Amino acid sequence: MAEQKKISILGSTGSIGTQTLEIVRNNGDLRVTALAAGKNVRRMEEQVREFSPEMAVLYDEDAAAELKERVRDLPVRVLSGMDGLLAAAAEAPADIVVTAVVGMIGIRPTIAAMEAGRDIALANKETLVTAGHIIMPLAEKTGVRILPVDSEHSAIFQSLQGESMNKIHKILLTASGGPFRGKTRAELADVRVEDALKHPNWSMGRKITIDSSTMVNKGLEVMEAHWLFGVSVDDVQVVVQPQSVIHSMVEYEDGAVIAQLGTPDMKLPIQYALYYPYRRFLPGKRLDFAALKSITFEDPDPVNFPGLGLAFRAGRRGGTLPVVFNAANEKAVALFLDRKIRYLAIPEIIQAAMEHHTVRDNPSVEEILRAERETDEYIEGRTW
Ligand code: NDP
Repeated sequence: MAEQKKISILGSTGSIGTQTLEIVRNNGDLRVTALAAGKNVRRMEEQVREFSPEMAVLYDEDAAAELKERVRDLPVRVLSGMDGLLAAAAEAPADIVVTAVVGMIGIRPTIAAMEAGRDIALANKETLVTAGHIIMPLAEKTGVRILPVDSEHSAIFQSLQGESMNKIHKILLTASGGPFRGKTRAELADVRVEDALKHPNWSMGRKITIDSSTMVNKGLEVMEAHWLFGVSVDDVQVVVQPQSVIHSMVEYEDGAVIAQLGTPDMKLPIQYALYYPYRRFLPGKRLDFAALKSITFEDPDPVNFPGLGLAFRAGRRGGTLPVVFNAANEKAVALFLDRKIRYLAIPEIIQAAMEHHTVRDNPSVEEILRAERETDEYIEGRTW
């Protein structure tokens, strides 16, 4: 049997994490060495029993203590907190670390994994948006590969294969438009949590589903593309393509546009990242163009979905402004999911936090985390 590739998964209990484990289950040549998540003891226990990692981490201390008790019959090291995440990223033996935690909590483990020489299958876009100026030079220095898992960025990456000698003219980043495409601000005023959690095409974690509905997700992806592919944010054009068939495109200098198409299934980009540059059989629905009949395109709506414009503003300015954009969004989405603020307060909070902030250039990890704390305090200190 061919040598097994060792993988560590940060965020294993979530949407990307569980789909990554499905790929492990369907292929015989991946070995899970570490699993890490937040606090879902039950699911983590199931995963530990099925995949026998050497290390299992729950960030929450009480949850980790409970897990330790439940799996005491198994030879697995159970850890907690940031030290645990760092160990899962850098201590457990791994060829590749899948970063699928949600939010800026991923920054330090991603850096630790890279410093330990692990390739990164990157789903955790918040890390690249806020610390891309640290991550990308570190990839260059350490020689590790950052393999995109986000479907749009995987599509761009696939469209770039064999083209390294050619200059990108622009990136066409596609967007479904989310569940509220075509709605006006007045119609969005009464949106409830349940409404915003219904994505028309993709089944994802709660935070990214809300981000997709506000178009903030697309804004984060514009900044993610800027870092991954070395283009300015203004060389990224967002194209609304409601059927989510074209996952994104690259336009070259001669006007040729190369795209990747497929059914909306995150297992394809996850698997591509894990086995790059090889493709593997993947069971599932295939595109049926005759049944599809048409693929349509629209411009994004900047008036009713101001989150995208704010992201461009943050991306153009750089420094700590993308940190504030992202941190304010993380906080606002958490408040909305807790039913503490209105839906339309999400972009209002992001804008207010950005306007309140004094930008610092080239922030260190400590300065990034300080800007996050300051943003949280600013939001907590006001009523919205
Ligand atoms: P989910 O909410 O489904 O899962 C999040 C994961 O992160 C869970 O395993 C959760 O653990 C873990 N987690 C949360 N807080 C912590 C913490 N403090 N320490 C360690 N682990 C923690 O999110 P998704 O899988 O949807 O998204 C993950 C990332 O991938 C996000 O950055 C998202 O933007 C990106 N992404 C997701 C896509 C998708 O289709 N879902 C598509 C493209 C990108 P627990 O449940 O135990 O608390």
